[in-house]
Amino acid sequence: GIPSPATGARVVADDRAHLFHSWEAQGDVAPIPIAGAFGRYFWDYEGKRYLDFSSQFINTNIGHGHPKVVAAIKEQADRFCMIASTFANDKRGEAARLISEIAPGELSRVFFTNGGADANEHAVRMARLHTGRPKVLSAYRSYHGGTSTAISLTGDPRRWANENSANTTANVSHFFGPYLYRSHFHATTEEEECRRALAHLAEVIAFEGPDTIAAIVLESIVGTPGVLVPPPGYLAGVRELCDRHGIMFIADEVMSGFGRAGEWFAINAWGVTPDLLTFAKGVNSGYVPLGGVLLSEAVHETFRDSAYPGGLTYSGHPLACAAAVATITVMREEGMLENAARIGERVLGPGLREIAERHPSVGEVRGLGVFWAVELVRNRETREMLVPYAAGGAAARPVDEVVAACMESGMYPVWNYNRIHVVPPCSITEEEAWQGLAILDAALRHADKYTV
Ligand code: PLP
Repeated sequence: GIPSPATGARVVADDRAHLFHSWEAQGDVAPIPIAGAFGRYFWDYEGKRYLDFSSQFINTNIGHGHPKVVAAIKEQADRFCMIASTFANDKRGEAARLISEIAPGELSRVFFTNGGADANEHAVRMARLHTGRPKVLSAYRSYHGGTSTAISLTGDPRRWANENSANTTANVSHFFGPYLYRSHFHATTEEEECRRALAHLAEVIAFEGPDTIAAIVLESIVGTPGVLVPPPGYLAGVRELCDRHGIMFIADEVMSGFGRAGEWFAINAWGVTPDLLTFAKGVNSGYVPLGGVLLSEAVHETFRDSAYPGGLTYSGHPLACAAAVATITVMREEGMLENAARIGERVLGPGLREIAERHPSVGEVRGLGVFWAVELVRNRETREMLVPYAAGGAAARPVDEVVAACMESGMYPVWNYNRIHVVPPCSITEEEAWQGLAILDAALRHADKYTV
């Protein structure tokens, strides 16, 4: 309907009467009805506009409504919307080829899924079948998706409530990755953190039994739990440990891929090649759901003569693949990776560091490209988190107030416990990025109130 407060109210009424929301107490849900979105903005039925510093679920990397991607989806819809993955299809094949071309090393085989969680489910299944081993290691500070295997790999508190049967936790163990600001290893330099985090992982492998471990699953840059950029040498060290013990290295690039870190895949920045790589989100900016697994030749070979026991009705959906081809093409044509890197270097990095100096509540800012976290503390000396780990309700109020102030001023960020994440589309302009930072700067006075 025509955007008006009355239509907006009707949209919310339908939602509240019939929709069940992700990760929320259903009684608390109060969604803003969205009437439209374009570029780096979306707006409600009352005409209030939000600068999108979230890229929605950190996935609309090219921004909203890119005309060339929308046209590609329409063209494909006019030809046919669905053809089973049993058949060969031009856009499906082209999308797989384009993704292989930008993949690290020799990874050149693609299995398409509907999103990131099922990509991780399949990568783990492939690794277990390839190695004949049962266990998987993943980081406590991680999010790998909401389905059974993916949520058990996940370290973040959303795992706990899902650990409701032996099956969901069987054969998964967790370890601590590098995180210098809150070092688990009492390290004071990146170099020390890297060395000790690798020694810790080596010890976990030894205690779990190297011959029982099929895979280590790792976000190349840890996303939701804090935008943790690994120190130089960490991912190469993980690669070495995997090689030493015949363990598959699964790089989860669901959030860090497709321009977010100024690279096609974040792991490319460190020149490391995993055995399997999972992607989703930015592959087509979420215009149509799509995810997938990139496989090494060796893993692919395991399934040359014996059937792969897995599949999906929508594997390589033509509309999703047409959107992926168009997305990768416009990202190239418009230099979006370069833009993301430049925005990180020229605006978000310096701008956030300046903000950190002005606000006693900012403990650390970190990131690169269009992938940044602002970590809020009650006290800079003790580094006590402004919102404790896993806390909700009243304990989350300081960050809730910052977010409310951002939204009031027309900017929509991402938040998680004691952090605000600045994750706009890769296509954002310098001016828009500065505007968003100015809003965040003003909103942080609400966090400062709670410092001691
Ligand atoms: N892996 C990572 C690193 C993610 O950030 C996410 C989603 O946020 C997922 C996997 C799950 O992807 P999806 O929600 O598409 O299943």
